[in-house]
Amino acid sequence: MAYDDTNIFARIIAGEIPCKKVFENTHALAFHDISPQMPVHVLVIPKGRYVTMDEFAAAASTDEQADLSRAIGEVARITGVAETGYRLIANNGEDAHQEVPHLHFHVLGGKRIGGRMIKGD
Ligand code: AMP
Repeated sequence: MAYDDTNIFARIIAGEIPCKKVFENTHALAFHDISPQMPVHVLVIPKGRYVTMDEFAAAASTDEQADLSRAIGEVARITGVAETGYRLIANNGEDAHQEVPHLHFHVLGGKRIGGRMIKGD
């Protein structure tokens, strides 16, 4: 999918729009979701121009992939949900209702989550 350089996360990475940063490394950035659905709701994104996980997996460098993975782990530890449990979600594309066309992982936790693994309408 063609990357839209005006999407909101591209503008956060460019420093044009502020975010509440939780963690950052060379190739990844984590910040609080603007509309939290759980007590802990952090988004972890690569700094590179990727829309979906399949694109990222195919095209991102080993360093980019390692930094994204490590950032997710750091966020879990920093927010405390590594101790209590958390859910990791990435919506990819239309059927998954991806709203922002820049790859992002939702780290959700801080309270007991409903027992179902996924919810499909
Ligand atoms: P998705 O449906 O997976 O694409 O989710 C996009 C997420 O981005 C939603 O949970 C939004 O609340 C969140 N979001 C949108 N704009 C911002 C922003 N400026 N800062 C932080 N989170 C945002």
